[in-house]
Amino acid sequence: MSNGLARKRIALFGSTGSIGRQALEVIDANSGAFSVEVLTAHSNDELLVKQALHFKPEIVVIGDDKKYPQVKAALSGHPIKVFAGEKALEEVAAMDVYDMMIAAIVGFAGLRPTLRAIENGKAIALANKETLVVAGDIVMQKALECKAPIIPVDSEHSAIFQCLIGETRNRIEKIILTASGGPFLGKKPNFLVNVKRDHALQHPNWSMGAKITIDSATLMNKGLEMIEAKWLFNLQPDQVHVVIHPQSIIHSMIQFEDGSIKAQMGLPDMKLPIQYALSFPRRLPSNFPRYDFRKPNTLSFEEPDTRTFRNLVLATDALNKGGNLPCVLNAANEIAVFAFLRNRIGFLDMTDLVERTMQEMPFIEHPTLEEYFDSDGEARNFAASLIKL
Ligand code: NDP
Ligand code: MG
Repeated sequence: MSNGLARKRIALFGSTGSIGRQALEVIDANSGAFSVEVLTAHSNDELLVKQALHFKPEIVVIGDDKKYPQVKAALSGHPIKVFAGEKALEEVAAMDVYDMMIAAIVGFAGLRPTLRAIENGKAIALANKETLVVAGDIVMQKALECKAPIIPVDSEHSAIFQCLIGETRNRIEKIILTASGGPFLGKKPNFLVNVKRDHALQHPNWSMGAKITIDSATLMNKGLEMIEAKWLFNLQPDQVHVVIHPQSIIHSMIQFEDGSIKAQMGLPDMKLPIQYALSFPRRLPSNFPRYDFRKPNTLSFEEPDTRTFRNLVLATDALNKGGNLPCVLNAANEIAVFAFLRNRIGFLDMTDLVERTMQEMPFIEHPTLEEYFDSDGEARNFAASLIKL
């Protein structure tokens, strides 16, 4: 696309997920600009095969090796290489068959392949926020050294990124991340204690994968996004603010040192930030529904209720202290969400589990990459042992 002729070659890691499927819709609608060279899934072999037959990538990877025979058989007769297993995700990330990776795997599992892509100087359209939460310092340093641009897909960070265009010499006073508040906005602990998974999975504004939907209900998602923002935009913790904005029309804002505030707005639709990350610095036309100011609308804002949604306090603590604490917070949260989705623990237990794990794990101020991996593993084991998973 850079010379107006060649198509940008895309490697879509996590193609069967919510972001992955929407990214493929964007690519399908802009097939003159993008080609799909790599598709990966964890265990959804049927959808992966369907996608592969439609987009004809060079390579597909199925994370779960037990599914390899099915995928291989279904794609035999097509010039598509099939690989399986965790290691293959990293190996393929290092191959020179693509220009941009869309990092859309969920959770810590996305970190290693994304790092490999960065080490190979690939552009990254980053949906997987956990990568920056866990090891943001190392990831951003490597991106700088290897000249690998990281373009955010997360809607709040895409908003900040878009507001920064033309402002590189201007100091940011603060950024204001907007949060919808999730399905339990205004609720108190006496209500939340009885909340079950199916209720928590109903998000008012966004349709997303299960993990991030629960994170949105507990506000952990906003906590992770605060840490993500710190690394992406090189901010001090006290420059990162959160405001509840239930309509999700303003996707986030920057306040500059003259007091001026820039906001990026639009209807809540992840296809927009996905498309922008793919086409940056250009904007491509789209037929996504438009926000209409002529209709009666209210845009409202309020302080988050951090007494009820204590995950925001825990994440702010991790943001302030840094070191391996965000990594520990993330690991414990992945275990907590996993257990909640299987009805093993209650809604409020998730926060308690994260808090206990953060209190118990040894603090490392400047972890190496290996120490981040170790902290992740130890925090998971500890959190799982607390709830006898
Ligand atoms: P989904 O759960 O819908 O999809 C996750 C994808 O990752 C699937 O393709 C899944 O494969 C794959 N996957 C899961 N576990 C592993 C693993 N251990 N190894 C390799 N691949 C794996 O998640 P979302 O699309 O909702 O989210 C993806 C990322 O984007 C998350 O980090 C999330 O925070 C972020 N994000 C998502 C938004 C959204 O609107 N959904 C908005 C902003 C950020 P399979 O289907 O086979 O299990
Ligand atoms: Mg977001």
